[in-house]
Amino acid sequence: MSAYESASHFRLGTSLIHVGSEPSPSTGAVVPPISLATTFVQTSPGVHPGVSDPNSFGRGYDYSRTCNPTRGGFERALGSIEHGQCVSFSSGCAAISACLHLLPPGSNLLCISDVYGGTHRLLTKIASTNLNINITFTDFDVLTSEAVKDVQMIWLETPTNPSLKITSIKKMVELAPENCLLCVDNTFASPYFQNPLLLGADVVVHSVTKYINGHSDVVMGAAITGKEDIYEKLRFHQNAVGAVPSPFDCYLALRGLKTLHVRMDLCEKNAHAIALFLEKKGLKVIYPGLENHPQHIIAKEQMKGFGGMISFYVDGGIEDTSKFLSKLKVFLLAESLGAVESLAECPAIMTHSGIPKEERVKVGVEDNLVRLSVGLEGIDDLCADLEQALQK
Ligand SMILES: *Cc1c(COP(=O)(O)O)cnc(C)c1O
Repeated sequence: MSAYESASHFRLGTSLIHVGSEPSPSTGAVVPPISLATTFVQTSPGVHPGVSDPNSFGRGYDYSRTCNPTRGGFERALGSIEHGQCVSFSSGCAAISACLHLLPPGSNLLCISDVYGGTHRLLTKIASTNLNINITFTDFDVLTSEAVKDVQMIWLETPTNPSLKITSIKKMVELAPENCLLCVDNTFASPYFQNPLLLGADVVVHSVTKYINGHSDVVMGAAITGKEDIYEKLRFHQNAVGAVPSPFDCYLALRGLKTLHVRMDLCEKNAHAIALFLEKKGLKVIYPGLENHPQHIIAKEQMKGFGGMISFYVDGGIEDTSKFLSKLKVFLLAESLGAVESLAECPAIMTHSGIPKEERVKVGVEDNLVRLSVGLEGIDDLCADLEQALQK
């Protein structure tokens, strides 16, 4: 087993760069090859090769849906920095779906009200109808122990999308009854800025598509847990349902992960500067790193940094907002987030258009709300771009 196997004593940057990317033992290649084979030669029937390869988790290899060396490398890397065991999927939604399948039919699930749109759709259109799970959406600010009494799963996002609301993970851990699973979608913070498992959560999910891969060229997801029984169930689900990521996507995501710390530090620095710049222009800005953010203190306590996402309100209505967005040149007008290039979008008519207006307005998604995913370009160019697009 490699020296990197017990990664806990390494600094984060060392884990990110070395865990799961150990030189190939047979050739010495510094970048391990992408393992494309779908099947593996057995020495005698039922005896699997690769049992000693850490990327097979002691199981060896037989068929690539069940276990793949490149995928195993990625899972070890993400598991090491999120402090649990990682199971990867072909998208963030597939990872969330696997978590929902942890519940028996008839279970009660309590979900934070301004959850990611895709999660909302999965819960209301699939989990509630096909899996017979009872879904309730609630504002977690005012949650009581009475409200969670008969709940088997709590679904939390912090920060939320796009209102960037922060919920105390510790408080939710205390509130959750025994045998209730607390799942945290940690996509917005990334494992660099927040580690929910260390705060007591049971499962963390990521849309690897966003900060973890970080280059807008892979759709992929992952679930990470510190509990052995949950891990075994997720592994079983991964193989049985088969929504697995391709070796090439795992290779790209592993390569993206190596610079996570550098990318997160810079996007946060850029985001902070832009938040201040927009505030100076007299605009209402939502960014957890600003002292006027309603949950700034909680963010400071549970996160190591405030991330690269900003929301703010343009002066005017939907037309002014569309005009502003169309004038941007460095910021690309697109959905998604978490990559090296800066993106801007209007949630009301893009990412959150599926949510009825009364519902979205309740969580602050007005027609003139703009969401920025701040990337790694030169800060002066980003501010100049916003400046020219804001000009009437
Ligand atoms: C994008 C996203 C997802 C879904 O992930 P996909 O990889 O697109 O399936 C889930 N949660 C959050 C917070 C996201 O931003």
